[in-house]
Amino acid sequence: GSRKKVAVIGSGNWGSTIAKIIGSNVVNSEEFDHTVRMWVLEEIIGERKLTEIINTEHENPKYLPGHKLPHNVARRQQKVKILKGGVDFLEELYVQYTWYLKQAWEGEFLLALELAVADLLETVTGADILVFVVPHQFIRNICKQLKDHLTPTTIGVSLIKGIDEGPSGLKLISDIIREELSIDMSVLMGANIASEVADGKFCETTIGSKNKQNGMLLKNLMQTPNFRIAVVEDADTVEICGALKNIVAVGAGFCDGMGYGDNTKAAVIRLGLMEMIAFAKLFCRGAVQSATFLESCGVADLITTCYGGRNRRVAEAFARSGKSIEELEKELLNGQKLQGPQTAAELYRILQTQNSIDKFPLFMGVYQVCYEGKPVHDFIACLQSHPEHL
Ligand code: NAD
Ligand code: 13P
Ligand code: CA
Repeated sequence: GSRKKVAVIGSGNWGSTIAKIIGSNVVNSEEFDHTVRMWVLEEIIGERKLTEIINTEHENPKYLPGHKLPHNVARRQQKVKILKGGVDFLEELYVQYTWYLKQAWEGEFLLALELAVADLLETVTGADILVFVVPHQFIRNICKQLKDHLTPTTIGVSLIKGIDEGPSGLKLISDIIREELSIDMSVLMGANIASEVADGKFCETTIGSKNKQNGMLLKNLMQTPNFRIAVVEDADTVEICGALKNIVAVGAGFCDGMGYGDNTKAAVIRLGLMEMIAFAKLFCRGAVQSATFLESCGVADLITTCYGGRNRRVAEAFARSGKSIEELEKELLNGQKLQGPQTAAELYRILQTQNSIDKFPLFMGVYQVCYEGKPVHDFIACLQSHPEHL
Protein backbone atom coordinates (compact mmCIF):
# COMPACT_ATOMS: atom_id res chain seq x y z
CA GLY A 1 0.00 0.00 0.00
CA SER A 2 0.97 3.63 0.10
CA ARG A 3 3.21 5.06 2.74
CA LYS A 4 1.57 5.93 6.03
CA LYS A 5 1.56 9.59 7.00
CA VAL A 6 2.33 10.48 10.58
CA ALA A 7 1.31 13.55 12.56
CA VAL A 8 2.53 14.35 16.05
CA ILE A 9 0.03 16.28 18.14
CA GLY A 10 2.09 18.13 20.70
CA SER A 11 5.57 19.60 20.83
CA GLY A 12 6.51 19.87 24.49
CA ASN A 13 9.46 18.17 26.14
CA TRP A 14 8.35 14.62 25.26
CA GLY A 15 6.45 15.62 22.12
CA SER A 16 9.55 17.18 20.57
CA THR A 17 11.59 14.14 21.57
CA ILE A 18 9.28 11.61 19.95
CA ALA A 19 9.08 13.83 16.85
CA LYS A 20 12.87 13.61 16.70
CA ILE A 21 12.75 9.80 16.88
CA ILE A 22 9.93 9.45 14.38
CA GLY A 23 11.44 12.01 12.01
CA SER A 24 14.71 10.15 11.78
CA ASN A 25 13.08 6.71 11.61
CA VAL A 26 10.75 7.44 8.70
CA VAL A 27 13.47 8.57 6.33
CA ASN A 28 14.92 5.05 6.44
CA SER A 29 11.58 3.37 5.96
CA GLU A 30 9.47 2.17 3.07
CA GLU A 31 6.47 1.92 5.33
CA PHE A 32 6.05 5.57 6.30
CA ASP A 33 5.79 8.85 4.45
CA HIS A 34 8.97 10.87 4.87
CA THR A 35 7.20 14.04 5.87
CA VAL A 36 6.17 14.29 9.52
CA ARG A 37 3.99 17.13 10.66
CA MET A 38 4.05 18.31 14.26
CA TRP A 39 1.38 20.47 15.86
CA VAL A 40 2.75 23.38 17.85
CA LEU A 41 0.63 25.57 20.10
CA GLU A 42 1.89 28.89 18.76
CA GLU A 43 3.65 31.23 21.11
CA ILE A 44 6.03 34.13 20.75
CA ILE A 45 9.59 33.65 21.98
CA GLY A 46 11.47 36.90 22.03
CA GLU A 47 9.88 38.40 18.95
CA ARG A 48 9.57 35.25 16.87
CA LYS A 49 6.93 32.62 16.47
CA LEU A 50 7.85 29.26 17.97
CA THR A 51 6.82 27.49 14.74
CA GLU A 52 9.13 29.73 12.74
CA ILE A 53 12.04 29.07 15.12
CA ILE A 54 11.48 25.31 14.92
CA ASN A 55 11.18 25.41 11.14
CA THR A 56 14.34 27.42 10.65
CA GLU A 57 16.61 26.38 13.53
CA HIS A 58 15.40 22.74 13.69
CA GLU A 59 15.16 23.04 17.44
CA ASN A 60 12.48 23.67 20.03
CA PRO A 61 14.40 26.08 22.27
CA LYS A 62 11.65 26.38 24.86
CA TYR A 63 10.66 22.78 25.50
CA LEU A 64 13.65 20.72 24.31
CA PRO A 65 16.63 23.06 24.23
CA GLY A 66 19.92 21.74 22.92
CA HIS A 67 18.52 18.99 20.70
CA LYS A 68 18.30 19.20 16.93
CA LEU A 69 15.17 17.91 15.25
CA PRO A 70 15.60 16.10 11.95
CA HIS A 71 14.95 18.31 8.94
CA ASN A 72 11.90 16.37 7.85
CA VAL A 73 10.21 17.38 11.07
CA ALA A 74 11.41 20.90 11.31
CA ARG A 75 11.70 21.58 7.62
CA ARG A 76 12.12 19.57 4.47
CA GLN A 77 13.45 20.75 1.20
CA GLN A 78 11.22 19.67 -1.62
CA LYS A 79 11.61 20.15 -5.31
CA VAL A 80 8.56 21.83 -6.79
CA LYS A 81 7.80 23.01 -10.26
CA ILE A 82 6.64 26.59 -10.29
CA LEU A 83 4.68 27.80 -13.28
CA LYS A 84 3.49 31.29 -14.01
CA GLY A 85 0.28 31.90 -12.10
CA GLY A 86 0.37 28.72 -10.12
CA VAL A 87 2.33 26.08 -8.34
CA ASP A 88 2.38 22.52 -9.53
CA PHE A 89 3.13 20.44 -6.47
CA LEU A 90 5.02 17.25 -7.04
CA GLU A 91 3.42 15.98 -3.89
CA GLU A 92 0.43 17.20 -1.99
CA LEU A 93 2.10 19.44 0.53
CA TYR A 94 1.44 22.10 3.07
CA VAL A 95 3.50 25.11 2.33
CA GLN A 96 3.11 28.79 2.24
CA TYR A 97 3.93 29.47 -1.34
CA THR A 98 2.47 32.91 -1.85
CA TRP A 99 5.90 34.50 -1.67
CA TYR A 100 7.12 32.32 -4.54
CA LEU A 101 4.05 33.14 -6.56
CA LYS A 102 4.64 36.82 -6.06
CA GLN A 103 8.05 36.46 -7.63
CA ALA A 104 6.29 35.14 -10.72
CA TRP A 105 9.17 32.73 -11.18
CA GLU A 106 9.10 29.83 -13.54
CA GLY A 107 11.14 26.70 -13.23
CA GLU A 108 12.09 24.20 -10.56
CA PHE A 109 13.05 25.37 -7.11
CA LEU A 110 13.75 23.90 -3.74
CA LEU A 111 11.04 24.95 -1.39
CA ALA A 112 11.56 24.89 2.32
CA LEU A 113 8.50 23.21 3.72
CA GLU A 114 7.30 24.31 7.08
CA LEU A 115 6.28 21.26 9.01
CA ALA A 116 5.92 22.55 12.53
CA VAL A 117 2.33 23.64 12.08
CA ALA A 118 0.28 25.91 14.31
CA ASP A 119 -3.08 24.87 12.86
CA LEU A 120 -4.28 21.65 14.45
CA LEU A 121 -6.56 20.57 11.60
CA GLU A 122 -3.88 21.28 9.03
CA THR A 123 -1.50 19.09 11.04
CA VAL A 124 -3.77 16.05 10.91
CA THR A 125 -5.13 16.36 7.38
CA GLY A 126 -4.35 13.18 5.47
CA ALA A 127 -2.61 11.56 8.43
CA ASP A 128 -2.87 7.79 8.88
CA ILE A 129 -1.21 7.70 12.28
CA LEU A 130 -1.73 10.26 15.03
CA VAL A 131 0.70 10.47 17.94
CA PHE A 132 -0.98 12.20 20.88
CA VAL A 133 1.52 13.81 23.23
CA VAL A 134 0.13 16.82 25.08
CA PRO A 135 -0.17 17.29 28.86
CA HIS A 136 -3.27 15.33 29.85
CA GLN A 137 -5.37 18.30 30.95
CA PHE A 138 -5.56 19.53 27.34
CA ILE A 139 -6.73 16.37 25.57
CA ARG A 140 -10.48 16.99 25.72
CA ASN A 141 -10.09 20.35 24.04
CA ILE A 142 -7.87 18.83 21.33
CA CYS A 143 -10.43 16.08 20.68
CA LYS A 144 -13.21 18.63 20.43
CA GLN A 145 -11.33 20.36 17.62
CA LEU A 146 -10.50 17.13 15.78
CA LYS A 147 -13.95 15.58 16.01
CA ASP A 148 -15.43 14.75 12.58
CA HIS A 149 -12.19 15.69 10.80
CA LEU A 150 -10.48 12.28 10.67
CA THR A 151 -10.85 9.38 8.29
CA PRO A 152 -12.07 6.17 9.98
CA THR A 153 -8.93 4.23 9.05
CA THR A 154 -6.73 6.60 11.05
CA ILE A 155 -5.11 5.02 14.09
CA GLY A 156 -3.74 6.73 17.18
CA VAL A 157 -1.20 6.20 19.92
CA SER A 158 -1.25 8.10 23.18
CA LEU A 159 1.98 8.97 24.96
CA ILE A 160 0.01 10.98 27.50
CA LYS A 161 0.43 10.07 31.16
CA GLY A 162 -2.68 10.97 33.12
CA ILE A 163 -6.27 9.97 33.81
CA ASP A 164 -9.63 11.66 33.83
CA GLU A 165 -12.98 10.97 35.40
CA GLY A 166 -16.30 10.35 33.75
CA PRO A 167 -19.77 9.72 35.14
CA SER A 168 -18.89 6.09 35.85
CA GLY A 169 -15.53 6.80 37.45
CA LEU A 170 -12.18 6.20 35.74
CA LYS A 171 -11.74 7.47 32.22
CA LEU A 172 -8.45 6.68 30.51
CA ILE A 173 -6.99 9.33 28.21
CA SER A 174 -7.01 6.78 25.37
CA ASP A 175 -10.72 6.16 26.10
CA ILE A 176 -11.47 9.86 25.69
CA ILE A 177 -9.67 9.95 22.35
CA ARG A 178 -11.23 6.68 21.16
CA GLU A 179 -14.74 7.78 22.10
CA GLU A 180 -14.47 11.30 20.74
CA LEU A 181 -12.71 10.45 17.49
CA SER A 182 -13.78 6.84 16.83
CA ILE A 183 -10.26 5.63 16.02
CA ASP A 184 -8.27 2.60 17.18
CA MET A 185 -6.00 3.65 20.05
CA SER A 186 -2.80 2.20 21.46
CA VAL A 187 -0.56 3.65 24.17
CA LEU A 188 3.19 4.02 24.66
CA MET A 189 4.47 4.40 28.22
CA GLY A 190 7.84 3.67 29.78
CA ALA A 191 10.88 4.78 31.73
CA ASN A 192 11.59 7.63 29.37
CA ILE A 193 12.83 10.93 30.77
CA ALA A 194 12.63 12.98 27.58
CA SER A 195 16.02 14.69 27.59
CA GLU A 196 17.79 11.33 28.02
CA VAL A 197 15.80 9.78 25.18
CA ALA A 198 16.58 12.81 23.01
CA ASP A 199 20.27 12.27 23.83
CA GLY A 200 19.93 8.76 22.42
CA LYS A 201 20.79 7.08 25.71
CA PHE A 202 19.69 3.44 25.82
CA CYS A 203 16.28 2.79 27.37
CA GLU A 204 13.15 0.68 27.02
CA THR A 205 9.48 1.44 26.65
CA THR A 206 6.15 -0.40 26.37
CA ILE A 207 3.43 -0.23 23.75
CA GLY A 208 0.03 -1.40 24.91
CA SER A 209 -2.17 -2.33 22.00
CA LYS A 210 -5.36 -4.36 21.82
CA ASN A 211 -4.75 -4.67 18.08
CA LYS A 212 -1.50 -6.58 17.52
CA GLN A 213 -1.03 -5.40 13.97
CA ASN A 214 -1.32 -1.76 14.96
CA GLY A 215 0.99 -2.38 17.89
CA MET A 216 3.68 -3.73 15.55
CA LEU A 217 3.21 -0.87 13.10
CA LEU A 218 3.72 1.63 15.92
CA LYS A 219 6.76 -0.29 17.11
CA ASN A 220 8.25 -0.03 13.61
CA LEU A 221 7.56 3.69 13.67
CA MET A 222 9.23 4.42 16.99
CA GLN A 223 11.81 1.76 17.87
CA THR A 224 15.48 2.66 17.48
CA PRO A 225 18.65 0.82 18.57
CA ASN A 226 18.56 2.80 21.81
CA PHE A 227 14.80 3.01 22.32
CA ARG A 228 13.68 -0.60 22.67
CA ILE A 229 9.98 -1.37 22.55
CA ALA A 230 8.01 -4.32 23.92
CA VAL A 231 4.43 -4.66 22.71
CA VAL A 232 1.82 -6.08 25.10
CA GLU A 233 -1.94 -6.48 24.78
CA ASP A 234 -2.74 -5.35 28.32
CA ALA A 235 -3.09 -1.75 27.17
CA ASP A 236 -5.26 -0.42 30.00
CA THR A 237 -2.77 -1.57 32.61
CA VAL A 238 0.08 0.03 30.67
CA GLU A 239 -1.79 3.33 30.65
CA ILE A 240 -2.74 3.14 34.33
CA CYS A 241 0.92 2.53 35.19
CA GLY A 242 2.02 5.58 33.22
CA ALA A 243 -0.53 7.80 34.92
CA LEU A 244 -0.23 6.65 38.52
CA LYS A 245 3.54 6.55 38.79
CA ASN A 246 3.49 10.35 38.57
CA ILE A 247 1.63 10.49 41.91
CA VAL A 248 4.22 8.20 43.48
CA ALA A 249 6.95 10.50 42.15
CA VAL A 250 5.39 13.44 43.97
CA GLY A 251 5.54 11.41 47.19
CA ALA A 252 9.17 10.52 46.49
CA GLY A 253 9.92 14.21 45.98
CA PHE A 254 8.33 15.09 49.33
CA CYS A 255 10.64 12.58 51.02
CA ASP A 256 13.69 14.00 49.25
CA GLY A 257 12.68 17.51 50.32
CA MET A 258 12.34 16.43 53.94
CA GLY A 259 15.74 14.76 53.92
CA TYR A 260 14.70 11.11 54.10
CA GLY A 261 17.08 8.58 52.60
CA ASP A 262 17.10 5.85 50.03
CA ASN A 263 15.29 3.29 52.22
CA THR A 264 12.33 5.64 52.55
CA LYS A 265 12.28 6.27 48.84
CA ALA A 266 12.40 2.53 48.13
CA ALA A 267 9.43 2.07 50.49
CA VAL A 268 7.51 4.85 48.72
CA ILE A 269 8.24 3.22 45.37
CA ARG A 270 7.12 -0.21 46.60
CA LEU A 271 3.99 1.00 48.36
CA GLY A 272 3.20 3.10 45.30
CA LEU A 273 3.58 0.02 43.12
CA MET A 274 1.23 -1.97 45.36
CA GLU A 275 -1.34 0.82 45.14
CA MET A 276 -0.94 0.94 41.35
CA ILE A 277 -1.62 -2.80 41.17
CA ALA A 278 -4.58 -2.54 43.55
CA PHE A 279 -6.05 0.33 41.54
CA ALA A 280 -5.64 -1.47 38.23
CA LYS A 281 -7.35 -4.56 39.65
CA LEU A 282 -10.26 -2.48 40.97
CA PHE A 283 -10.82 -0.38 37.88
CA CYS A 284 -9.67 -2.22 34.75
CA ARG A 285 -12.41 -3.67 32.57
CA GLY A 286 -10.35 -6.62 31.40
CA ALA A 287 -7.88 -8.93 33.14
CA VAL A 288 -4.83 -7.27 34.68
CA GLN A 289 -1.60 -9.12 33.93
CA SER A 290 0.90 -8.94 36.80
CA ALA A 291 3.67 -9.26 34.20
CA THR A 292 2.74 -5.82 32.82
CA PHE A 293 4.09 -4.20 36.00
CA LEU A 294 7.49 -5.74 35.18
CA GLU A 295 7.55 -4.07 31.76
CA SER A 296 9.23 -0.69 31.32
CA CYS A 297 5.89 1.06 31.94
CA GLY A 298 5.74 -0.42 35.45
CA VAL A 299 8.62 -0.73 37.87
CA ALA A 300 11.17 0.87 35.56
CA ASP A 301 9.15 4.05 34.98
CA LEU A 302 8.49 4.30 38.71
CA ILE A 303 12.20 4.17 39.43
CA THR A 304 13.30 6.71 36.82
CA THR A 305 10.51 9.15 37.66
CA CYS A 306 11.09 8.90 41.41
CA TYR A 307 14.78 9.74 40.86
CA GLY A 308 14.93 11.98 37.80
CA GLY A 309 11.48 13.33 36.94
CA ARG A 310 9.90 16.77 37.04
CA ASN A 311 7.16 15.69 39.46
CA ARG A 312 9.83 14.59 41.91
CA ARG A 313 11.82 17.77 41.47
CA VAL A 314 8.92 20.16 42.03
CA ALA A 315 7.66 18.11 45.00
CA GLU A 316 11.10 18.28 46.59
CA ALA A 317 11.12 22.08 46.17
CA PHE A 318 7.60 22.18 47.61
CA ALA A 319 8.69 20.37 50.76
CA ARG A 320 11.72 22.63 51.13
CA SER A 321 10.22 26.01 50.28
CA GLY A 322 6.58 25.99 51.34
CA LYS A 323 5.68 27.70 48.04
CA SER A 324 2.64 26.35 46.20
CA ILE A 325 2.90 23.62 43.56
CA GLU A 326 1.53 25.98 40.87
CA GLU A 327 4.08 28.64 41.77
CA LEU A 328 6.95 26.15 41.64
CA GLU A 329 5.73 24.64 38.37
CA LYS A 330 5.98 28.08 36.78
CA GLU A 331 9.25 28.92 38.48
CA LEU A 332 11.09 25.66 37.76
CA LEU A 333 9.60 24.23 34.57
CA ASN A 334 9.44 27.15 32.09
CA GLY A 335 6.09 26.13 30.61
CA GLN A 336 6.43 22.37 30.98
CA LYS A 337 3.56 20.79 32.87
CA LEU A 338 3.28 18.59 35.95
CA GLN A 339 0.92 15.66 35.70
CA GLY A 340 1.23 14.10 39.18
CA PRO A 341 -0.72 16.50 41.44
CA GLN A 342 -3.70 16.75 39.06
CA THR A 343 -3.73 13.00 38.58
CA ALA A 344 -3.88 12.64 42.38
CA ALA A 345 -6.92 14.97 42.44
CA GLU A 346 -8.63 13.03 39.66
CA LEU A 347 -7.89 9.77 41.45
CA TYR A 348 -9.25 11.18 44.70
CA ARG A 349 -12.60 11.95 43.07
CA ILE A 350 -12.76 8.50 41.47
CA LEU A 351 -11.94 6.71 44.75
CA GLN A 352 -14.38 8.87 46.66
CA THR A 353 -17.31 7.80 44.51
CA GLN A 354 -16.29 4.15 45.01
CA ASN A 355 -15.71 4.48 48.79
CA SER A 356 -12.16 3.22 48.32
CA ILE A 357 -10.08 6.08 49.75
CA ASP A 358 -8.77 4.01 52.67
CA LYS A 359 -7.11 1.46 50.42
CA PHE A 360 -4.78 4.08 48.89
CA PRO A 361 -3.05 6.00 51.69
CA LEU A 362 -0.03 6.99 49.60
CA PHE A 363 -2.04 8.35 46.66
CA MET A 364 -4.42 10.10 49.06
CA GLY A 365 -1.56 11.48 51.16
CA VAL A 366 -0.12 13.12 48.05
CA TYR A 367 -3.54 14.53 47.20
CA GLN A 368 -4.07 15.96 50.68
CA VAL A 369 -0.64 17.59 50.81
CA CYS A 370 -1.07 19.13 47.36
CA TYR A 371 -4.69 20.27 47.64
CA GLU A 372 -5.98 20.14 51.22
CA GLY A 373 -3.26 21.88 53.15
CA LYS A 374 -2.05 18.76 54.94
CA PRO A 375 1.46 19.52 56.21
CA VAL A 376 4.06 17.72 54.10
CA HIS A 377 5.65 16.44 57.30
CA ASP A 378 2.52 14.36 57.90
CA PHE A 379 3.04 12.50 54.62
CA ILE A 380 5.07 9.72 56.24
CA ALA A 381 2.34 9.22 58.84
CA CYS A 382 0.01 8.35 55.94
CA LEU A 383 2.26 5.40 55.15
CA GLN A 384 2.53 4.08 58.72
CA SER A 385 -0.93 2.56 58.69
CA HIS A 386 -0.68 1.21 55.17
CA PRO A 387 -2.82 -1.86 54.37
CA GLU A 388 0.44 -3.56 53.35
CA HIS A 389 1.50 -3.62 57.04
CA LEU A 390 -1.75 -4.54 58.72
P1 NAD B 1 5.42 19.57 28.53
O1 NAD B 1 5.37 19.17 29.97
O2 NAD B 1 6.72 19.99 27.98
O3 NAD B 1 4.32 20.70 28.35
C1 NAD B 1 4.48 21.80 27.50
C2 NAD B 1 3.62 21.62 26.28
O4 NAD B 1 2.25 21.83 26.60
C3 NAD B 1 3.97 22.65 25.21
O5 NAD B 1 4.06 22.02 23.95
C4 NAD B 1 2.79 23.58 25.25
O6 NAD B 1 2.52 24.17 24.00
C5 NAD B 1 1.69 22.64 25.61
N1 NAD B 1 0.51 23.36 26.07
C6 NAD B 1 0.43 24.37 26.97
N2 NAD B 1 -0.83 24.83 27.06
C7 NAD B 1 -1.57 24.09 26.21
C8 NAD B 1 -2.94 24.08 25.84
N3 NAD B 1 -3.81 24.91 26.40
N4 NAD B 1 -3.34 23.17 24.93
C9 NAD B 1 -2.49 22.31 24.37
N5 NAD B 1 -1.17 22.28 24.67
C10 NAD B 1 -0.73 23.16 25.58
O7 NAD B 1 4.82 18.37 27.64
P2 NAD B 1 5.47 16.92 27.40
O8 NAD B 1 6.68 16.72 28.24
O9 NAD B 1 5.59 16.71 25.94
O10 NAD B 1 4.36 15.94 28.03
C11 NAD B 1 3.26 15.44 27.33
C12 NAD B 1 2.85 14.12 27.96
O11 NAD B 1 3.93 13.20 27.85
C13 NAD B 1 2.54 14.22 29.46
O12 NAD B 1 1.39 13.46 29.77
C14 NAD B 1 3.74 13.61 30.13
O13 NAD B 1 3.45 12.98 31.38
C15 NAD B 1 4.19 12.59 29.12
N6 NAD B 1 5.61 12.22 29.21
C16 NAD B 1 6.56 13.16 29.41
C17 NAD B 1 7.90 12.78 29.50
C18 NAD B 1 9.01 13.78 29.73
O14 NAD B 1 10.08 13.39 30.17
N7 NAD B 1 8.80 15.05 29.46
C19 NAD B 1 8.24 11.44 29.34
C20 NAD B 1 7.24 10.50 29.11
C21 NAD B 1 5.92 10.91 29.06
P1 13P C 1 8.02 13.65 34.88
O1 13P C 1 6.80 14.23 34.20
O2 13P C 1 7.88 13.56 36.36
O3 13P C 1 9.28 14.36 34.46
O4 13P C 1 8.15 12.15 34.36
C1 13P C 1 8.55 11.94 33.03
C2 13P C 1 8.27 10.53 32.64
O5 13P C 1 7.13 10.18 32.43
C3 13P C 1 9.42 9.61 32.52
O6 13P C 1 9.03 8.37 32.02
CA1 CA D 1 -10.61 16.17 35.03
